[in-house]
Amino acid sequence: MTPEIHLHVLASGSKGNAAVVEGPEGLVLVDCGISRRALLARADELGLDMGRVSGVILTHEHSDHVGGLTVFCNRFDGPLFATAGTAGARPYLAELPFTLVGSSDEFELAGMRVRTFPTSHDVAEPMGLRFETADDALGYCTDTGELGPEALDALAGARILALESNHDERMLAGGPYPAHLKARVAGARGHLSNAQAAAALRELVGPDTETVVAMHLSQENNRPSVAVRELAAAVGAEPASGEDGRPEARTPDGRLTICCAAQDWPLSVW
Ligand SMILES: [Zn+2]
Ligand SMILES: [Zn+2]
Repeated sequence: MTPEIHLHVLASGSKGNAAVVEGPEGLVLVDCGISRRALLARADELGLDMGRVSGVILTHEHSDHVGGLTVFCNRFDGPLFATAGTAGARPYLAELPFTLVGSSDEFELAGMRVRTFPTSHDVAEPMGLRFETADDALGYCTDTGELGPEALDALAGARILALESNHDERMLAGGPYPAHLKARVAGARGHLSNAQAAAALRELVGPDTETVVAMHLSQENNRPSVAVRELAAAVGAEPASGEDGRPEARTPDGRLTICCAAQDWPLSVW
């Protein structure tokens, strides 16, 4: 594959999510769960011009994914994509001019083909995303309690894989959350654990896969080093020194890197 699609994670975690997928003809904002001010500051840190955003896609209506959208849209005129379920789930979202897409759909944006697939989460109509050009692919999937056949198919073999690795199952079970919240997070419509993500990687990583980004890590029930170690073990990667001391792992042949996104620490994957 020739790198034509790049991923910039501005924020990832339960306090706010926003990522930019950079395609050949512009930028796509995936979710807008942080303030406009934080969004612009982090984009600036990564050298991204948010004036080049040619569309916004929402994965679902939880406020950690949409909380900053209304203010962002005061100065954004481009198309907003969401499922009918997501767009209709909150009064303030229903006021925005969405282009409705299905959760098993395809459309073109920023010089890329975007394929949506259903995720399993406690909201109306959530989805994950695959971005593709003739010679590159990026898979993006967070906020899902499990990965169904369609999700696995859409994510398989991408060069960049951004995959939820929300919690360590033992840390969640023994952690501070009340029982109902533990059950919700661990449930089929909750969040993917490190172990689930690791098991999926054995199927998803292909010969062209270069980078796996662990996404939406819980600050209470996970640690970056724990998530990276568990994902790394599934694909034969070994701990390596990452940029700025971030935990990272690499396969001995150097072809595959495992890293993790953070709540307050933007990250670019080229
Ligand atoms: Zn979330
Ligand atoms: Zn969510």
